[in-house]
Amino acid sequence: MAKGSNRRKATAKADLPQKTCVSCGRPFTWRKKWERVWDEVKYCSKRCGGRG
Ligand SMILES: [Zn+2]
Repeated sequence: MAKGSNRRKATAKADLPQKTCVSCGRPFTWRKKWERVWDEVKYCSKRCGGRG
């Protein structure tokens, strides 16, 4: 039996877009709550953005 040839189907979650927070510089991943404003999202959290 050969090991290591198992392939898992990639979930849709792996395809979520990412951005880098302009405040803290950390990468963050798309969230459901941003689906309508993703183009405008610049911060990973309210703490970084100052506004929701
Ligand atoms: Zn941040």
